Amino acid sequence: MKPHFVCIGGCGKMSETQTKCNSIGCWRARNPLGECFCTDNKHTDFYTQYNLDIEKVEKLNISNSD
Ligand SMILES: [Zn+2]
Ligand SMILES: [Zn+2]
Repeated sequence: MKPHFVCIGGCGKMSETQTKCNSIGCWRARNPLGECFCTDNKHTDFYTQYNLDIEKVEKLNISNSD
């Protein structure tokens, strides 16, 4: 998996190119995504780096799909 960009806000926004979060309601919306180098698509180290609660992120992803 290539390096990719993930929203630091934990909304689940992900991109192959550096861009800004556009998720409605995300506290990091309109801010740049952070670069992630994970290979399993779970962004574990990335979320740890930014002190994000992975369980909370997964819940956010679920609520986003409503
Ligand atoms: Zn976001
Ligand atoms: Zn990742």
